[in-house]
Amino acid sequence: MKFGTKAIHAGVEPDPSTGAIMTPIFQTSTYIQDGVGNHKGFEYSRTQNPTRKALEESIAALENGQFGLCFGSGMAAIDTVLKTLDPGDEVISTNDLYGGSYRLFTKVGEKFGIKFHFVDMRDVNNISTHLNDRTKLIWVETPTNPMLSIVDIRAVVKAAKGVRVAVDNTFASPYLQNPLDLGADLVMHSVTKFIGGHSDVVMGALVLNDSAWAEALYFMQNSAGAICGPQDAFLVLRGIKTLHLRMRQHSMNGKAVAHFLRTHPAVDTVYWPGFEDHHNHEIAKAQMRDFGGMLSFTLKDNRMEAAHALLEKFRLFTLAESLGGVESLCSHPASMTHASIPKEEREKSGVKDALIRLSTGVEDVEDLIADLQQALR
Ligand SMILES: *Cc1c(COP(=O)(O)O)cnc(C)c1O
Repeated sequence: MKFGTKAIHAGVEPDPSTGAIMTPIFQTSTYIQDGVGNHKGFEYSRTQNPTRKALEESIAALENGQFGLCFGSGMAAIDTVLKTLDPGDEVISTNDLYGGSYRLFTKVGEKFGIKFHFVDMRDVNNISTHLNDRTKLIWVETPTNPMLSIVDIRAVVKAAKGVRVAVDNTFASPYLQNPLDLGADLVMHSVTKFIGGHSDVVMGALVLNDSAWAEALYFMQNSAGAICGPQDAFLVLRGIKTLHLRMRQHSMNGKAVAHFLRTHPAVDTVYWPGFEDHHNHEIAKAQMRDFGGMLSFTLKDNRMEAAHALLEKFRLFTLAESLGGVESLCSHPASMTHASIPKEEREKSGVKDALIRLSTGVEDVEDLIADLQQALR
């Protein structure tokens, strides 16, 4: 089945008791047992819930994976992955990564004895430098947030020499990129973003093919209990039905906005993997179906106040954290999503004070460009 067909059909079957075409919201904590241990596969909703199950199957299908697990947030999904590691284990992670992941790794993971190395994965030799017997996980983000750097997933898998590779695929969405097909062992999503797509749900997901690791993750999902509720699972099932349509529009709008900004005299650099002179454009072309609607740019005036002033002038681009919704959003990484990363560490990966990140929505692009134009003026 091709992507659009899977988005509409995968995981979702008409409800056998009523014929309802949409999976109902099974708002229930428990399930009746006819006799002790005699049930229909559902015992308690932390362990299994039919609405969540339909969603988990849908997301797994979109990532061409066998096992899918959904959580109360993207961070809960990542935390569950960390909990399958042991004290003394080491992780090599992309250095240009989501601020919340950096915080979870350094402030929580390290407390439990896991050691993290943050490296620039555009050069996979940086992985080899840190790889040793204790390395148990390689954590990749591509495209990276907010610099839109591209990491060559196939090259990372090769450099990992058998160590598990996990990819935070939030920025790309399953429509643009399928890391399992490129050799990765696990895909993580902040479902909050493109998969949900309507800025109304916070959720996370993991997809994988490795049955032993999947079993450990299901065990942790049930033991620690960071699950998502059935109402949210329903909303995301609904969002997924238009994922392919939204991603096409996000990509078209992102392209037009990137080209507009690039020619504007007040703009310094535009970071968007679709540009032919983007450092890893060829890899982006090879591992992604299109380049998406995420982009960042710096102003020639590199003062924090200049960026703040511009952000306040936007009318359509809404100043907010998050991304991937149908409405266009703008943000200031240095003072918002990446404020928890020390300035020195932040600037090493290019997050300057006047860097602005855009999540182009699916509005008419003429209106988006007019908004940028008036604000930059
Ligand atoms: C938002 C985000 C997360 C965290 O997900 P939540 O759903 O907010 O917990 C992780 N990684 C990336 C790339 C994100 O954008």
